[in-house]
Amino acid sequence: MTVTFASPRFYTRPGKIKESPGDFICLHCGALVCAEAALSGVRNRNHCPYCLSSRHLDQFEAGDRLSACKARMRPVGLTLKRIGKKYTGHAQGELMLVHRCEDCGKLSINRIAADDVAEAILALLEPSAGLDADTRARLVQAGVTPLDTAQIGLVRTCLFGIGSAALQEG
Ligand SMILES: [Zn+2]
Ligand SMILES: [Zn+2]
Repeated sequence: MTVTFASPRFYTRPGKIKESPGDFICLHCGALVCAEAALSGVRNRNHCPYCLSSRHLDQFEAGDRLSACKARMRPVGLTLKRIGKKYTGHAQGELMLVHRCEDCGKLSINRIAADDVAEAILALLEPSAGLDADTRARLVQAGVTPLDTAQIGLVRTCLFGIGSAALQEG
């Protein structure tokens, strides 16, 4: 007997697929960011691939664009998200960015896009380890554990593949 967990759901609501938020200019570094899903590998590109900055546009869920805040969101750390649904390539979880709004302080967890600069992501490990107690407490309360510099091997594996971590340790 086969146990089926969740049936694969595809959010192909008519009219929703074609509706792209469009390219945008990064508020932080001024780069023109292409929102084309084929390039980024994510449906709702919400951060700059170069400096990883984002904007507080979403209120309840990624892509809803309901927030009135619109302030700049800076990447403040990294975390691992457990994945049990689609795109299950790695068992240990997916590397995620932690953003904090510079204005209202909202924290959000975002998927890394395929064209994000890996070095910029790696550089977030230090701020992630040094997060202030308040931010850390809020994340932990939401079930999010910020990564620590001791986990650099893991982050390298996520970013550059298995071989790089082995090289680093050897
Ligand atoms: Zn940028
Ligand atoms: Zn905000």
